[in-house]
Amino acid sequence: KPIIDVQNVSFTYDGASRPALSSVGLTVREGDFLGIIGPSGAGKSTLIYSMNGIIPHYCKGDFFGSVLLGGNDTFETSLTDLSRIAATVFQDIDAQMVASMVEDEILFGLENFGVSRAEIEPRMAEALESVGISDLRHRAISSLSGGQKQKVAVAAVLALKPRVLLLDEPTGALDPASSRQIFELLRELNESCGITVVVVEQKIGLLAEFTRHLAVLSDGAVRYCGETRSVLRNA
Ligand code: ADP
Ligand code: ADP
Repeated sequence: KPIIDVQNVSFTYDGASRPALSSVGLTVREGDFLGIIGPSGAGKSTLIYSMNGIIPHYCKGDFFGSVLLGGNDTFETSLTDLSRIAATVFQDIDAQMVASMVEDEILFGLENFGVSRAEIEPRMAEALESVGISDLRHRAISSLSGGQKQKVAVAAVLALKPRVLLLDEPTGALDPASSRQIFELLRELNESCGITVVVVEQKIGLLAEFTRHLAVLSDGAVRYCGETRSVLRNA
């Protein structure tokens, strides 16, 4: 049964002359590892915003169609409730980070979610551990490498125990080795923790190696979607 069901979605940003998404349909099964690829301006970020409810709740524009996230119609469900199902690592993680210390970045989300005092420490430790950055806990975020920052951003959302992890070009600013590490981490979270992963990525090699399904976007439409191997053969 799908955990994300995008049904015939069209979206035009206020002031834009053409839609960023046109009649997009896409389903993501629970436990899937889906890659999204396409040229700049294809609508990849907009599709992520439609999956997590930022569209229609936060971005202004004309929205048609419907999206079900964990069975909830995003139009009728608050962003707060939606954020308990899907967590997002945005493209601009520097803008996403709210704290200056690693520990505080993770603490922020936990407190925001109303996690009890007793549960905060174990969740913090588990999130850092699962991403392999326990040693960075007391570091300043500004002192970290790009790859380390990405891991902090992932740890901060993992602490919230989402069923779905949405990531918008997490390797965009990373060298090949760090990019691979991020995907190995995503695979681990997907396979061991059963987290559904949806990742916008431009590096075909990583998509081919790590994702199960792949959607190719251009001009706001899904051109191909299916098993990664067959999409890459036909695209
Ligand atoms: P991407 O790498 O996904 O193409 P962009 O550089 O297109 O990212 O977008 C970066 C930010 O600028 C995003 O928050 C996006 O919503 C916003 N943005 C992109 N295009 C426009 C536009 N034509 N008008 C206003 N904001 C835009
Ligand atoms: P991608 O992530 O594939 O680069 P986006 O989803 O960022 O594509 O953008 C899709 C289209 O929507 C582009 O034409 C972009 O310029 C436009 N767009 C994105 N954000 C905004 C915005 N905030 N306001 C107006 N247009 C936007």
